[in-house]
Amino acid sequence: MPQYDYDMITIGGGSGGVRASRFAAGTYGVKTAVIENMRIGGTCVMRGCVPKKLLVYGAHFAEDFEDAKGYGWEPGEPSFDWGTLIANKNVELDRLEGVYHRLLRDAGVDELTGMGRVVDAHTVAVDGPDGTKTYTAKYILIATGGWPTLPNIPGIEHAITSNEALDLPSLPKSIAIVGGGYIAVEFAGIFNGLGSDTHILIRAENILRGFDQAVRDTLHDEMVKKGITIHQETTVQSIEKTASGYSLRLNDDEILEVDCVMYATGRAPNTKGVGLEEAGVAMSAKGAVVVDDNFKTSVDSIYALGDVIDRVQLTPVALAEGMAVAHTLFGDKPTLVDYDNIPTAVFSTPPVGTVGLTEEQARRDHDVDIYMSHFRPMKYTLSGREERTMMKMIVDRKTDRVLGCHMVGLDAAEMTQALGIALKCGATKAQFDATVGIHPTAAEEWVTMRTPVRPAEAAE
Ligand code: NDP
Repeated sequence: MPQYDYDMITIGGGSGGVRASRFAAGTYGVKTAVIENMRIGGTCVMRGCVPKKLLVYGAHFAEDFEDAKGYGWEPGEPSFDWGTLIANKNVELDRLEGVYHRLLRDAGVDELTGMGRVVDAHTVAVDGPDGTKTYTAKYILIATGGWPTLPNIPGIEHAITSNEALDLPSLPKSIAIVGGGYIAVEFAGIFNGLGSDTHILIRAENILRGFDQAVRDTLHDEMVKKGITIHQETTVQSIEKTASGYSLRLNDDEILEVDCVMYATGRAPNTKGVGLEEAGVAMSAKGAVVVDDNFKTSVDSIYALGDVIDRVQLTPVALAEGMAVAHTLFGDKPTLVDYDNIPTAVFSTPPVGTVGLTEEQARRDHDVDIYMSHFRPMKYTLSGREERTMMKMIVDRKTDRVLGCHMVGLDAAEMTQALGIALKCGATKAQFDATVGIHPTAAEEWVTMRTPVRPAEAAE
């Protein structure tokens, strides 16, 4: 008789949890199970990255139809049906859910449906449709992800989050989005593109705190050019339901009337009801599970990864952490995750791609040269669209190493993935310069920027 029911039970069937369980079972032949109380695939697949990006594609057609005219097309008066977009998006999510079930089944991972809860260092309870069942495991992996957080103001119950925004029954004529992070700017692009009168309300002066200043300024300008109203240094005091929608009282006593209010003010680790504190698992002041470099919590048999540990809230990071846990626990290969030079994209309109240090970060420890390029993408020359692309490269003067690449503009996400490889390899500016460009592309700008716009001493 084995000592435990499973080698590892994972609470949470999102990207990180599924990857760790599947990889451990498929590669190392161990017995694993995943507990999920919603839909397998988690935030990224069901409520985040995937449906969001489908809606970004959907919204971009508004500009594509306009741009087509400069190329001789007469597309007529396009009409848009929100219901069709949402229904088709949901069909795709159903398909992906099926793929996830199949991948788990093929790898021999058991799926346990219900709310998972840690009972002790080797036991979990699953509160499922048929009551509560308990299972034992050598290791328990906490991969419960995160959940949107909303400030406690009067009327906050009227606000939706990105969870609901992806399934609204109809397209709002107007929307106020509170927050200026990834989710706020992405959804602003979606709703604005689809025709909603879109307002972003930020408490700071600019969107995308933590990103390079040039990215923040460029995206801000482009969003405003597209018709999004950005209310700077603005907070919402209260939200009231009115006969036709919602009335927001702002800090300057202004009133903003909209059909829909969405909050995108960050996400917190999802640990409620998981039994972690009771089991003696240490948590940070922000409520994240504390782990060591190998993702072990303060309890030797309990591990955690992904958004619940609040290191870097990105799906590919959770995937890397999942692989590392599987290698460490079952492959006899203690594996660390390298958090340096993680490329990331914001699927705003236009999109952002970024990897490495911002200029501000780089200047703390390096003398740097700054290379920049601003141009109108070739696609928009015939269509007359005024959207511009910005590229910025930060180079260490002493070593010639490229420390950061930042871009706002068409195809930024696709380019940044490849730039990430270069930075991971420690590429120098001379190596970028020695790379032959592909003509005519926007990407060739990365290998043809010859003259720094700002030398080291002229900090911005
Ligand atoms: P972010 O942390 O990116 O941004 C939160 C925003 O909310 C900031 O602009 C912040 O303002 C503002 N804010 C926080 N609290 C308040 C408050 N009380 N009142 C008003 N504004 C407030 O969070 P998101 O929710 O946008 O996204 C969560 C995470 O999910 C991201 O950090 C990212 O890691 C991940 N994600 C990644 C995506 C991608 O890879 N494309 C897409 C979507 C999400 P301030 O700047 O002033 O602090």
